[in-house]
Amino acid sequence: MNINRQWILARRPFGMVSADNFEYREVPVPEPGDGEVLVRNLYLSFDPTQRGWMEDRESYMPPVRIGEPMRAGAVGQVFASNHPDFETGELVQTLGGWQDFLVANPSAGMLSLSKLPPGIDPAMILSVLGTTGQTAYWGLLDLGKPQSGETVLVSGAAGATGSVAGQIARIKGCRVIGIAGGPEKCAWLTEEARFDDAIDYKSEDVDARIAELCPDRVDIFFDNVGGGILEAALNHINMRARVVMCGGISAYNATAPVPGPANLMNIVVMRARMEGFIVIDYMDRFAAAAQELMGWVQSGELVYQVDVQEGFENIPQTLTRLFTGQNRGKQLLKIADPA
Ligand code: NAP
Repeated sequence: MNINRQWILARRPFGMVSADNFEYREVPVPEPGDGEVLVRNLYLSFDPTQRGWMEDRESYMPPVRIGEPMRAGAVGQVFASNHPDFETGELVQTLGGWQDFLVANPSAGMLSLSKLPPGIDPAMILSVLGTTGQTAYWGLLDLGKPQSGETVLVSGAAGATGSVAGQIARIKGCRVIGIAGGPEKCAWLTEEARFDDAIDYKSEDVDARIAELCPDRVDIFFDNVGGGILEAALNHINMRARVVMCGGISAYNATAPVPGPANLMNIVVMRARMEGFIVIDYMDRFAAAAQELMGWVQSGELVYQVDVQEGFENIPQTLTRLFTGQNRGKQLLKIADPA
């Protein structure tokens, strides 16, 4: 218990992220100072945005520095506390990164350290009630503004964010079509998540299938992918459509600048709106959204998948699963059970 295992960022990626970008090391467990808390990580969250954090460029967060443990969302347990509000054994959420132990300072804000609501499954707080569920909720409801009877198209639809966005659209009375890779994910979308239909972008002509499945055109496109899928969707937007720019995973590992869609003028012609967002801007409203999301889970209207890998040695490879589509729902890795 006096060794802190870490995976540090050793080399910035060019192209597809791989385990070679990271190095394993062991360092002493840090000591918490006055007002600080020592946390032991239990579950790590894997998110496509981590690929962006590995680049040496300005974004909504600073880049991870070479030699630092890779940044990651995590659920952990308080191991020792020098802060009156945190007790040993409590479950907390941190941005603790790929390591066993970290020192967190409660005064650094909710993103650095927050308590889990009592009795909540850590996997839920890192998935349907956490960042990906919240992204789906706020992106769809605040930017998409779905109206009953509208047609909603979602890319990356079988993933942690896309699957929740599509189901919220269904709950709001919309017709929902998902785009995902492969027959198994498409079957999960229609059979378990109760999307109205699914398009397999790996084997079908996405443009032709959107035309076929959306005869009244697309009122909301919730995009996680970008590239050719965004261009195909823009061909079919309705008047006053909302294009919710959640992510663009198809370009995250690109080695050269990716050309934009050739048909952006459709936004003008259809008097549509295209808007991006970053979910952390909604953090002060997460608790209310989590309550509504939990209600839908409990009533069976909202299903979610978590894909829990195990083993500290498997951390780097687990990140690559997001970019090869191996993950089935929210990608997590369990380091340890709570003590
Ligand atoms: P996820 O969807 O659970 O996993 C990523 C999925 O992306 C993979 O399973 C794969 O599904 C698909 N994918 C990977 N490479 C692809 C490619 N080249 N073309 C098409 N699809 C590809 O991950 P997530 O955490 O929920 O993130 C989904 C998106 O939401 C990402 O774009 C992420 O950046 C974005 N996001 C945005 C915010 C925000 O605040 N704006 C917050 C969280 C997440 P298939 O097998 O179907 O290809």
